[in-house]
Amino acid sequence: MDYVSTRGSAPALDFAGVTLAGLAADGGLYVPREWPCFTAEEIASLAGLPYAELAQRVMQPFVGDCLAPARLLELCRQAYGRFAHAAVTPLKQLDQQQWLLELFHGPTLAFKDVALQLLGLLFEEFLARGGDPLTIVGATSGDTGSAAIDAVAGRAHVEVFMIHPRGRVSDVQRRQMTTVLAPNVHNIAIEGTFDDAQAMVKRMFGDPTVTARFHLSAVNSINWARLMAQVVYYFAAALQLGAPRREVAFAVPTGNFGDVFAGYVAARMGLPIAKLIVATNVNDILHRALSTGDYSAGSVTPTAAPSMDIQVSSNFERLLFDLNGRDGAALARQMDGFEASRAMQLTEQQRTGAAALFTSARADAGDMAHALRWASEACGEVIDPHTAIALHAARTAEIDASIPVVTLATAHPAKFRDAVERATGHRPALPARVGDLFEREERCAVLPGDYAAVVDYVASHAVPRS
Ligand SMILES: *Cc1c(COP(=O)(O)O)cnc(C)c1O
Repeated sequence: MDYVSTRGSAPALDFAGVTLAGLAADGGLYVPREWPCFTAEEIASLAGLPYAELAQRVMQPFVGDCLAPARLLELCRQAYGRFAHAAVTPLKQLDQQQWLLELFHGPTLAFKDVALQLLGLLFEEFLARGGDPLTIVGATSGDTGSAAIDAVAGRAHVEVFMIHPRGRVSDVQRRQMTTVLAPNVHNIAIEGTFDDAQAMVKRMFGDPTVTARFHLSAVNSINWARLMAQVVYYFAAALQLGAPRREVAFAVPTGNFGDVFAGYVAARMGLPIAKLIVATNVNDILHRALSTGDYSAGSVTPTAAPSMDIQVSSNFERLLFDLNGRDGAALARQMDGFEASRAMQLTEQQRTGAAALFTSARADAGDMAHALRWASEACGEVIDPHTAIALHAARTAEIDASIPVVTLATAHPAKFRDAVERATGHRPALPARVGDLFEREERCAVLPGDYAAVVDYVASHAVPRS
């Protein structure tokens, strides 16, 4: 399998190449040249497999011959062996139609572990075959940083620099990053906001004095391998609910459109998905795009579901590419227009194409609190604010009563204890596996919000190209 850019002019790469690359050289995102497809019999034969085996079977067509099946299976066993639940992503029934797919049993309590635990192993595997050591640089407002750090801590040939705005991430989130003492993990707290941190990271990627010396890479969800790993749990849930004989719908708390794009990939592979319900909070660019065709960025409103507080959803470009008949040159023009004006209108072809599989809903603070309380009072399930937004969307979408609706539960409620307590009156306890988080030693460099200071720090701790 090789991979092409959504903007049509970057060189094609194999799976190992796209795993180590960030953006394509033409500014686009890599996607498989074609979607592998399973027959109904092949899908039926996946039922009942342990998660790691299912993962290997679903991912092998994307990996091609970059990893032998036995090796990919080993890596999946290692990645998913670190989850605190034997099912890895257990499915729970809420009522006659509504289900919850718990994706937060990984080491850092958020669904990002599902992809990043595997990605850390893939980095190590491919880097061991030669090439320059990798310098991962990222900015985080919480969840991505802790999941990425946990995934690469102690891995060979990789150094990770994670920049967070000092005093602006929760205690749990900060400690999940700063108590990882592996020598290849470098936490940096800067004086400033998340946007300041993000701007510094972008500048580093465009700074030839940095990129000439270091092989920079990113771990955000533009990385194809992350999306690929997320396709697996759509299969896991749908198989349990009767696929391929029965259709299933999914409601997905959406920020960067990575998680829900993985659902789209599952549908392209032949999984019978009736609808993908894109759930947003008041930062609703995707809801507007899918319901009216208006994709225009405003300013971010902070909410109790911070991982969905976005202006622009990078992975939406991957969907637009497919809906455009995979015309990279046309999409490059459309995206250039968007980048210049921060607004664009979807074409009629893109709108009708999207409407065949996607629907969307927007939840405000009241909708979110209502869904949190419903889960707690009617179903005895304590959920987190991100999950609550998707559950609101699941319950308000008009899905035929015969079709099960699965809400993706993307974070453990203890990660957002204050918001959960405000809505339900209960303060969720941290699970035992992170219970001594507040006793562990922390390590973090505190730097001024100054680009030169951060670059100096990275340059003096990273391993240069050979
Ligand atoms: C990252 C994240 C999301 C959004 O996922 P995308 O792939 O960016 O759409 C939703 N919920 C939680 C808890 C997250 O950490």
